[in-house]
Amino acid sequence: MTWRRLLILGGTADAAELAGVAIARYRHRMTVISSLAGRTEIPGDIPGQVRVGGFGGVEGLVKYLRAEKIDFVIDATHPFAAAMSRHAALACAQAGVPRLALQRPDWPLTAGERRIAVPDMAGAAAKLRELGARRVFVTSGAKDLAALADLTEAWLLVRLIEPPAEPPPLAHYALIFARGPFTEVAEHGLMEEHGIDALLTKDSGGEATYGKVIAARDLGIPVVIIGRPASDVTNAVDNIEAALDWLEGLLKADG
Ligand code: NAP
Repeated sequence: MTWRRLLILGGTADAAELAGVAIARYRHRMTVISSLAGRTEIPGDIPGQVRVGGFGGVEGLVKYLRAEKIDFVIDATHPFAAAMSRHAALACAQAGVPRLALQRPDWPLTAGERRIAVPDMAGAAAKLRELGARRVFVTSGAKDLAALADLTEAWLLVRLIEPPAEPPPLAHYALIFARGPFTEVAEHGLMEEHGIDALLTKDSGGEATYGKVIAARDLGIPVVIIGRPASDVTNAVDNIEAALDWLEGLLKADG
């Protein structure tokens, strides 16, 4: 049996879970390496080997795949990490390494939700102003918060994974720090406690952060939702079991 090396492009709860399951299932035949961009100081709990930092574009990733003798790549990055996914598709094609994308399913739309789609953070700021939002729960991450700087009429409750290097350029705000998953009950309580009247989120999908969408619906709060970047990445599945099936198929060829 040939020893194999799997690279998981991570930075998500799904990627960490996949690493754990792959190690549990294939510990006698495979090394599992998770790759992080290094956006947070302290990564979450990730089983197996972890490497941190960009590869240096497509060319750098091709070099890495060859140098590290990677046999398979699963791109389990966040749906908004479009550059990394594009690089992974191109580099794996060049290096002849089989690649699969693990893409989270969209959040199902349930009756009574008030979802308002916007293309980006600037669109979100315009929509929140139009809605007359006064107390906004901001869960769109640390990037591009400057786009909300002109929302001077509103108070923003901004949830991040960890403290930012610089204070965000916002008029009235509070920061809270937490790493998902978040339950619907806790999200409901948090929004109620802070008198939130609008939720801002990316269309991240998946279960770990779905609770806030349902909590907002139950509280009658509009959800301003930033659409996912366009993706032309092929060979994708939307759940961990299907990703493991793909691996299993490749390993069968080893005998
Ligand atoms: P991005 O815009 O697609 O990537 C920008 C660059 O960061 C890539 O070209 C690559 O640098 C490096 N990079 C990204 N993901 C990497 C990974 N897993 N391992 C090594 N290098 C990586 O990505 P992003 O939106 O900044 O996201 C960065 C990380 O945060 C990803 O791991 C993603 O899963 C996670 N994340 C992102 C979001 C979000 O909303 N964007 C939310 C939660 C988690 P090189 O070109 O030098 O290789």
